[in-house]
Amino acid sequence: MKEFEEVVKNFKKEIVKKVKKPRIWKEKDVLDGKVVNAFVLILRTKGCFWAKESGCSMCGYYRETYDAGYEEIKKQIDEAYMQYEGEEIVKIFTSGSFLDEREVPKELRDYIFKKFSKAKKIIVETRPEFVDALEEISSEIRLEVAMGLESANNKVLEYSINKGFTFEEWRKSAEKVISYGRELKVYILIKPPFLTEKDAIKDAIRSAEKVKGIATTISFNPVSIHGKTLVEYLWKKGLYSPPWLWSVVEVLKETRKIYDGYIKCDVIAGGKERGSHNCGKCDKDVLKAIKNFNFTQNVKEFDNLKCACQEEWKDLLEIEEFFKG
Ligand code: SF4
Ligand SMILES: [Zn+2]
Repeated sequence: MKEFEEVVKNFKKEIVKKVKKPRIWKEKDVLDGKVVNAFVLILRTKGCFWAKESGCSMCGYYRETYDAGYEEIKKQIDEAYMQYEGEEIVKIFTSGSFLDEREVPKELRDYIFKKFSKAKKIIVETRPEFVDALEEISSEIRLEVAMGLESANNKVLEYSINKGFTFEEWRKSAEKVISYGRELKVYILIKPPFLTEKDAIKDAIRSAEKVKGIATTISFNPVSIHGKTLVEYLWKKGLYSPPWLWSVVEVLKETRKIYDGYIKCDVIAGGKERGSHNCGKCDKDVLKAIKNFNFTQNVKEFDNLKCACQEEWKDLLEIEEFFKG
């Protein structure tokens, strides 16, 4: 839908790109069932081609990018490597597609893999258009490919997210990732715009159902409000609110019943106005339970959560459906 693409694109008109340093941090993650150290590097590159053409309605990552050339990206990698202390997992993100040569030239891709060859696993992100590049990457590297799907519903992909591909196209690329012997992580969104809270929960669970058997990890992303996006515009007008944390818990509990792989959920801006939140009183406890679930994978983490706002959330699920007609 060309009109919707134009609407989403318009939010980026006044962004000024400044030279930025790579972002680097360390965190805990899970590797083969064990909690290990992970090194995260966000390279500043040209960024996602789709964000330039139009972009996804909730994504503000293009603000993190700028037109870095070959030498500059190489310098960023060297700078990052100085801080690397042998962490088992290395995550290299570009606010776009690591496998798109316009962002990371092939030689630099190989340079990165050589530098971080001690890592037990390297994780990169890409859109489905670029998975054929996997053919050129040594099979000795244990590589996990994280590929955003957001929703397996084509209507949601087109009219709510403006993802620029269909579920079938994503699925074809996902099969290729597996055929190249790589692990596949899929990002699924919780509460894209224009969906009721109840429909958003259902959409996330159905999407999980549709990727089982192919994705080794499902990473749920509850929507947070990024600046200069359609979602921010709707939020400011009172037409959108990020998902309740109770909805996130519901998605995790239900997905655990139907999916055998590893499930994770990083709640960006959790408990804040711009992120997934509840009443304010219980947010900390719920966020802690979600964090624990990421490590234990056990839904018992959610057993003792209780708050008066749970009733309010349940009411909202019903009321919104009633007004939908
Ligand atoms: S969500 Fe991913 S595919 Fe969509 S615009 Fe952002 S970086 Fe590009
Ligand atoms: Zn509460």
